[in-house]
Amino acid sequence: MPPADPRLRIVLTKDAQEFQKRALEDVRVEPRGIGCRDGDRGVLVLHADAKLVRNDETLARLVAHEVTHLLLARLPPAGPLADSWGSFEEGLAHWFEAELGLGICECLCYAEHAQPPLRFRGGRWRDAALALDQERRLPALADLVDREIQDLDPEQHVAAFAFVDYLVRGAAAPPITGAAARPEALLLRLARPAKTGQGMRATLAAVLGRELAELDELFRLWVRATYC
Ligand SMILES: [Zn+2]
Repeated sequence: MPPADPRLRIVLTKDAQEFQKRALEDVRVEPRGIGCRDGDRGVLVLHADAKLVRNDETLARLVAHEVTHLLLARLPPAGPLADSWGSFEEGLAHWFEAELGLGICECLCYAEHAQPPLRFRGGRWRDAALALDQERRLPALADLVDREIQDLDPEQHVAAFAFVDYLVRGAAAPPITGAAARPEALLLRLARPAKTGQGMRATLAAVLGRELAELDELFRLWVRATYC
């Protein structure tokens, strides 16, 4: 069933009391960070405090990141992605942050709560992924599957972003051709099972035609060849 009202509602406020009030009334949660969202109803409330959100660019990244979560929740079939798909969901949200122009990611979530921006490794996560790989610290894909958003550490956020970048750029090259092989079609084929709670490992194997260990090896080679 499509949502009754397809429009999203985004509340930005600098006022701490107003943020608390809107979070409780509009999202119906006690906020644990600088923002919270309700994907089912398409509502986002953010505390745009200048001490926490340093400038308009950071605010734009925060909105892009959080709106990605809302849009994923509203993608048919309605409902959030399963918790075990946290790295895929968070990686896609980071990808849209980076897409705003500077390639910078700095917005991390704790479950459905936005956290104060964090410039891990300078925020340029394509560089960070390459550096982590060279240091042999880039988390394996096996470390990312079946993880909830709140269980991801900063290095896993970087790897999740880079893996989505690999998928979006069509580098995974699944054994299919034509429109079905386009990155957006692939992402939809991953997002739908993600909503019904199908395992991430088995779904990646089914959609991309490769077992995780082989995919991990190809992903690392791509990071070295593309981010250098
Ligand atoms: Zn997030």
